[in-house]
Amino acid sequence: MAKRDYYEVLGVIKNSSEEEIKKAYRKLAIKYHPDKNPGDKDAEEKFKEAAEAYEVLSNPDKRTRYDRYGHQGLDGFSGAGGMNMEDIFSQFSNIFGGDDNPFGSFFGGGGRQQVRKGTNLRIKLKLNLEEVAEGVEKKIKVKRQVACEGCKGTGAKNGTAFKSCTTCNGTGQIRRVVNTMLGQMMSATTCPACNGVGRMVAERCDGACGGRDGLVLQEEVITVKVPAGVEEGMQLSMAGKGNFPAGGGIAGDLLIMIEEEEHPTLKRDGKNIHYDLHISFIDAALGTNLEVPTIGGKARIAIEAGTQGGKILRLKNKGVKEINGYGIGDQLIHINIWTPKQLTKEEKALLEKLKTSENFNPKPEKTEKTFMEKMKEYFS
Ligand SMILES: [Zn+2]
Ligand SMILES: [Zn+2]
Repeated sequence: MAKRDYYEVLGVIKNSSEEEIKKAYRKLAIKYHPDKNPGDKDAEEKFKEAAEAYEVLSNPDKRTRYDRYGHQGLDGFSGAGGMNMEDIFSQFSNIFGGDDNPFGSFFGGGGRQQVRKGTNLRIKLKLNLEEVAEGVEKKIKVKRQVACEGCKGTGAKNGTAFKSCTTCNGTGQIRRVVNTMLGQMMSATTCPACNGVGRMVAERCDGACGGRDGLVLQEEVITVKVPAGVEEGMQLSMAGKGNFPAGGGIAGDLLIMIEEEEHPTLKRDGKNIHYDLHISFIDAALGTNLEVPTIGGKARIAIEAGTQGGKILRLKNKGVKEINGYGIGDQLIHINIWTPKQLTKEEKALLEKLKTSENFNPKPEKTEKTFMEKMKEYFS
């Protein structure tokens, strides 16, 4: 049978808008829906034909090809060779919009049983700078709901004492006839008594869960591998380490929110560490050796004679490892020259003597970079 023109199938003109095409298809889908035409082969064919036309004309890419080359232009594209019912019904959530899909509960929802997932657990994890910089393995205690051993999380004795659900007769669904704008239709909803499982507990578990919900609240020590380079507010997630759901299923996740503890002297900025060093102007003038704190220990650094305030020294690779594992930052030491705030008579007298000395007059050279220039150099 020769294929009909898709525009003709939907009853629209060639340059119809997306909205017009959608509207036309909605009408046909409702008119020829198998629920309204039980056993009518012709209606079923029309229903499929409309779905196929819509599949092509609602997709800009396919529509362009179809406009240009006709049916041949679509060879090899999905949907062009006729659609099965499953495809058509899964398309409906787009056409009719999630909740007011009049067919969804019948074809989409009831048949497939969803795996239940338990709730997620959230905890905060405080890390010091060393832990952030190097990465760390932390053991944390969490209280989580786990499946009772006696009933394997089902609440039924030995995990086997079930009977067929009396509300839905074991089908897991409640079917009823509803009046919709399309007329009377069958609707199926998940049985509320058994949550769609189709069975009920015949004899309750006498184990740790007390026969209630198959769950036991348990304190557990979980080892969390924190990679180097994490930051405040980042969330790590461990699949399956959250709560088990009542009645069986899979556990939710454990979500770990990172908090950074402030270091007393080192300040983290991304992968770099900043440290403010204060030296006396005597040390700055004469030069000296001294120790500075770094991540995981101390480092000895040399201050050259004639060092100016504002100078930045760099300790290579003494920063934080990058979270992708590819790089490591530096520690930047900001030199501040300390000016005495109070002086004894003797100190004053000594300084007065130096006051007129030629070398104590500021004479910034061209090579003395300004603060802004230094910042540019170090952060570019
Ligand atoms: Zn039931
Ligand atoms: Zn139990």
